[in-house]
Amino acid sequence: MQSDQALIAGLIEACREAIAQNAEHLCELDSAIGDGDHGTNMRRGCDAVCAERQNLSGLSFPEAVEKIGITLVMNIGGAAGPLYGTLLMEIGRELRDRDKTSDFATAFERAVDAVARRGRSRSGDKTLLDVLYPIHAELTRRAALADIAERARLSADRTAPMRAMRGRAAYLGDRSIGHVDPGASSCALLTAAICRYLGEHRAA
Ligand code: ADP
Ligand code: MG
Repeated sequence: MQSDQALIAGLIEACREAIAQNAEHLCELDSAIGDGDHGTNMRRGCDAVCAERQNLSGLSFPEAVEKIGITLVMNIGGAAGPLYGTLLMEIGRELRDRDKTSDFATAFERAVDAVARRGRSRSGDKTLLDVLYPIHAELTRRAALADIAERARLSADRTAPMRAMRGRAAYLGDRSIGHVDPGASSCALLTAAICRYLGEHRAA
């Protein structure tokens, strides 16, 4: 079993790499139904977290996750920054407060609900929530890492026929139909990277 520090460092690098490799694709998806910057925004956020790695060492896993969330809010920008930031800040807070939360699935659920409140959005609105809720369902049934990643990938694909109800894409109305949501796609890519890393480095 890795230390919290090694785990955090490994996950950060895995996520940074996944976003760097797919930044162009994420920008293309965002060009179709937004303003074309989602890959750039996510890359900026990941680079900022990497630059901060030294400050994270010495923190417990929940504290580090919360701090990463704050860095994401400050650096991703756009609509996605506060949403990804809220997700991580809330997961960190829930995990830290062991009295309130006994397991990761519950912490994740509360964090996803906080993202929904923050974005005033819900399942079916064609956003990253359409990947986050299915991930929660997989966590609840204690699915294998590969199954969680696959469900996230399929869920991102399933945003294509949806009509966007929130964010810039909502301005397009019916013209948003037929395109995968960029935030859903980044969420699936990050999930795949995290699941792959955990599968390789950590007993489940
Ligand atoms: P911006 O739209 O400001 O350019 P990004 O391009 O980085 O920001 O992020 C766009 C993504 O953010 C969308 O694909 C969607 O998944 C997500 N998003 C935007 N608005 C909302 C919202 N109100 N609730 C949930 N997710 C949202
Ligand atoms: Mg954008």
